[in-house]
Amino acid sequence: MAQKTALIIYAHQNPASFNAAARDVAVQALTKQGYKVLVSDLYAMNFKASATAEDVKGDLKNPEHFIYNDEMMVAWQNGRLSDDIAEEHRKLEQAELVIFQFPLYWFSVPAILKGWIDRVLTQGFAFTMQKLYDNGVFKNKKAMLSFTTGAIESMFKPDGIHGDINIVLWPLQNGVLRFCGFQVLAPQIFWCPAHSPPEVRSAMLEAWQERMNGIFAEKPLSYAPTKYFDLSFQGGFCLRPEIKEEYASESHGITTAQHLGKLLPPDNQTKAK
Ligand code: FAD
Repeated sequence: MAQKTALIIYAHQNPASFNAAARDVAVQALTKQGYKVLVSDLYAMNFKASATAEDVKGDLKNPEHFIYNDEMMVAWQNGRLSDDIAEEHRKLEQAELVIFQFPLYWFSVPAILKGWIDRVLTQGFAFTMQKLYDNGVFKNKKAMLSFTTGAIESMFKPDGIHGDINIVLWPLQNGVLRFCGFQVLAPQIFWCPAHSPPEVRSAMLEAWQERMNGIFAEKPLSYAPTKYFDLSFQGGFCLRPEIKEEYASESHGITTAQHLGKLLPPDNQTKAK
């Protein structure tokens, strides 16, 4: 049987950081289970963050009016993507599990990782207008965010000063991962390692190692199935009337963002149900 593969997209500058420790724990735990583990160490690779015409080898389709997604799709079809993107595509193709390991920057990923998302999740390769969400290109793969924060957990509670972490996570988990079809596993959040005592930091890494041991059996987070939506321009790609009716008497919305003006389903982006 072919060896299974995991891919870690790692974005931290410092090999002595807590993020590096979290990466190492994942590499060791997965390797021990017999997985081949690939790591893209974005800062060490000096990974280019900006999406530009240099990502295409050879002539552009329309040099007078450059449209990144269009040009990238043609370049992908013709095998003319820049070498760094093509290499990441090869890694992604092999991987059953993709872990994004990073420190939270401005409620999101560091720019270098956003660049990886912009450039590597190329139209055609990672999504098409016909292959999205449930029908997405990567529907047989799992992906998860694993990140550290500067904030303590209570700051990201629904009554905390930063607001509900479930809302913060929606754009990355739904807008990027699930959009491309990934089954999204619950995020691993390391709250404020810089101001935690050493024993708390060690306990966080032990819990991460423990989680890694069962990671491939985990249930993904729940989202509204694509069939709930009328996927036509006439229907506006909105929830079908019968689904709205079905949820009319519910106290909670369907997901964090498809909340229908109701209470948000608790922990929708942080815990699998
Ligand atoms: P480090 O400082 O590297 O590590 C923390 C501690 O863990 C250190 O004492 C280190 O020695 C120790 N450590 C390392 N290895 C181990 C080990 N094996 N075992 C035990 N301990 C170990 N935070 C937010 O909450 N929200 C934001 O929106 C946000 N935006 C930011 C934007 C920018 C531009 C920047 C620079 C920071 C931002 N932050 C934000 C803060 C940032 O998320 C944290 O600084 C970061 O997550 C801390 O993780 P680290 O790996 O860098 O920690």
